[in-house]
Amino acid sequence: MVIDLIVRQYRLPFAGRPKGAIVYLTHLPICARVVVVEDIAMTESKSFLEILQWTPEQARDYLEEIRWPNGPICPTCGAAEVYRIEAKTQRNGKPQPTRHLLKCKACKRQFTATVGTIFEDSHIPLNKWLAAIYLMCASKKGMSAHQLHRMLGVTYKTAWFMCHRVRHAMQDKTITPLSGIIEADETYVGGKPRRHPREKRGTMRQAVSLAKQSKTPVVGILERGGRVRAVPIKPITKRGVQRILRVNIDLAHSRLITDEHPVYHGISRYLPHDTVEHQQAYVMGEDIHTQGIENFWSLLKRGLIGTFHHVEAKYLECYVDEFSFRFNARKMTDEERFASALANVRGRLTWFFGQASQGEPHSAS
Ligand SMILES: [Zn+2]
Repeated sequence: MVIDLIVRQYRLPFAGRPKGAIVYLTHLPICARVVVVEDIAMTESKSFLEILQWTPEQARDYLEEIRWPNGPICPTCGAAEVYRIEAKTQRNGKPQPTRHLLKCKACKRQFTATVGTIFEDSHIPLNKWLAAIYLMCASKKGMSAHQLHRMLGVTYKTAWFMCHRVRHAMQDKTITPLSGIIEADETYVGGKPRRHPREKRGTMRQAVSLAKQSKTPVVGILERGGRVRAVPIKPITKRGVQRILRVNIDLAHSRLITDEHPVYHGISRYLPHDTVEHQQAYVMGEDIHTQGIENFWSLLKRGLIGTFHHVEAKYLECYVDEFSFRFNARKMTDEERFASALANVRGRLTWFFGQASQGEPHSAS
């Protein structure tokens, strides 16, 4: 069974795929045909200087343009028959339109461009939101909540929530598996363990295992020259890692390259598998290496150490998503990356509010 898949040109994994290409969806017994809707991405990309000069109304206009390139659509029932609500206030005897409020003719509900997005219920002016998104998209090693708080003139707590909502928009919500030459690797993220007395530290081997216990392992898969996917996994087990690989790789059309870590033993049952012996060389043969994913780890670690300093293990996934988004959009210009993140703002992030009352949201950053 083939269904048509409407794809925004900015959706990363599909960027560059020709119209009519068949895409296999991992968990479904169907495949989908890519239908690129050309005019959706025709909205002009904006530079940071322009965005800085926008009023909240201009920012809202741009959001409407990106969200509804063919005119507003009701977020409740999907009807395209909507109209702007006239305000009751009058100037010179004429009713003044409140430009941002819309009403659906079919279901009679009122809505704005921010309903159902990460901006919903936020009191922060939209121009500050767009500036925050731009800064986060353009900063290769990330932007800390403290810096946003200073630059945008919002409180630190507000800046922290904004950052996490933007990270939510940066999540890769697609399920197309990676294919071709795949590099997989694991890295350990986290602070150095506290210094233990020698008797507790024991041998070198015990000290290394102690250090690994306090860190969070992250498994990454990279399509050589293409996309990356990374996910924290604690504890790191053979079963868990191989499950991630099998779900995210197009097994029939891929070849896997890893180091000699025991978690990859036995994966050759599912797809061709080569290993590089790092004790001997970093590149073996012509193309057996994991330098691509090492490059991603280096960006992630420099960002985590240099910008965020400390990331709680429970939020690590959000930061990994943010770095993956920027890495996957590395060939775009800053303007295009910004428009791409803005096109993904649909989907409210509410779970952070449940944790907001539990004291300081995030330690030093
Ligand atoms: Zn409606």
